[in-house]
Amino acid sequence: TSDFTGRTVLVTAAAQGIGRASAIAFAQAGALVYATDINEAALAALPVRENLVVETLDVRSEGAVRALVDRIGAVDVLFNCAGIVHAGDILAMKDEDLDVAIDINVKAMIQTIRAVLPAMIERRDGTILNMASVASSVKGVPNRFAYGVTKAAVIGLTKSVAADYVAYNIRCNAICPGTVESPSLQERMRAQGDLEQTRAVFISRQPIGRLGTPEEIADLAVYLAGATYTTGQAVAIDGGWTI
Ligand code: NAD
Repeated sequence: TSDFTGRTVLVTAAAQGIGRASAIAFAQAGALVYATDINEAALAALPVRENLVVETLDVRSEGAVRALVDRIGAVDVLFNCAGIVHAGDILAMKDEDLDVAIDINVKAMIQTIRAVLPAMIERRDGTILNMASVASSVKGVPNRFAYGVTKAAVIGLTKSVAADYVAYNIRCNAICPGTVESPSLQERMRAQGDLEQTRAVFISRQPIGRLGTPEEIADLAVYLAGATYTTGQAVAIDGGWTI
């Protein structure tokens, strides 16, 4: 179903990019949306309305996550969108980068899921979306070691949760985008030096011939949140990158 009236949705990393587009899409679908992020300034630029509430939240803080979930009450849809990209292969990667990637891309997701699950179990209803990537167990991507390791873990934790809670009418799916236009992608492209050339390289990975838009990924998030016969899946949305 695509009508989320009466439903509460919690989105992490909702200040920009895919999280922001998803918060807006769920609000347009009628849900009460809690759009959360650490970036207060960017959150303040969201089109806040009656059913789109912004909250500062660092997903690395289990205490803050629990406090927010306690305040919200039952969450019907959790969209774990927060994630961080580091460059480097296994030899170039800094250990600190791997620790940060594990904390944000994996442990934080586990914490938010743990925070919302008890109420979902009690009500025998709930759906969880986790942001992975095709750069994961789906596909090896050069120079993305910490990212690939942690996004593969996202798919693993998604399937585990799906298996454990399917009997409680709780579904858990992962979204695996290809290359999507977003503020952090812009930064990564600029960091490479020649912006136009790097952009062309990023585009050329997708046979469809362009980058994805945050809105396209948001549409999939809304679809999966209402896809009552789909659980435990890692759904690619990648412009044909993994054809
Ligand atoms: P982005 O990277 O531009 O923005 C990320 C947001 O996360 C920012 O608003 C930032 O403030 C927030 N954030 C960072 N650390 C946080 C923390 N500790 N707590 C709460 N919020 C935090 O957005 P994006 O590129 O759309 O990426 C969103 C998700 O999609 C990430 O998980 C990313 O790995 C994934 N993804 C992106 C692409 C892409 O090409 N853009 C492709 C595949 C997967």
